[in-house]
Amino acid sequence: MNPQIITLPVGDFQTNCYLVFGPDRVGVVIDPGGEAQHIAQVLAERQIKATAILLTHGHCDHLIGAAQLQELLDLPLYLSEADLPTLEGSAADASFLGLSFTKVPKVTGYLKDGQIFKAGQLEFKVLATPGHTPGGIVLLCGDCAFCGDTIFENSVGRTDLPGGDSRQLANSIRRQIYTLPDSTTLYPGHGPTTTVGLEKRSNPFVRPL
Ligand SMILES: [Zn+2]
Repeated sequence: MNPQIITLPVGDFQTNCYLVFGPDRVGVVIDPGGEAQHIAQVLAERQIKATAILLTHGHCDHLIGAAQLQELLDLPLYLSEADLPTLEGSAADASFLGLSFTKVPKVTGYLKDGQIFKAGQLEFKVLATPGHTPGGIVLLCGDCAFCGDTIFENSVGRTDLPGGDSRQLANSIRRQIYTLPDSTTLYPGHGPTTTVGLEKRSNPFVRPL
């Protein structure tokens, strides 16, 4: 089933926070990178019941709003276990970048490669895509893939931060993203949406093999 999606660019890095929900208006919040009160307000106005926060990875610009959103809405939070050190270092990273960051969110559980995460009528398949960070994941729901900072329109995630690995990133994109149907829409952590077909044809950083 394809979800309904509301994109909210939040915080100093204009991270795409995605509200993803089904016909029953039950869903998840992906990457609340700031502006927790605004996110909670949009959920209330649009009558969406969020049942969890899912993180594509543990970088601070994707989770600065998470702890406050957990407090406002009592939400569990999930990410890949391999990004726990990234998450634990996110407060230090935020202070280095001059971002105000009050609290690291509480982790409820971990998302594993191949796992199906259910929220109401929606199913998210977890695809491990290490490279930008060791525990980066893509969340696939119908023909929509929420990619975090693994791939962007005509670009890919940086690999010069701790835990980054450019060969691993290229491998993840070829194995987990370029093997999806060309019509799959990619929802990146920053910037506009794109598709698997467009990136296979034009992404200058990772060519299909
Ligand atoms: Zn990142």
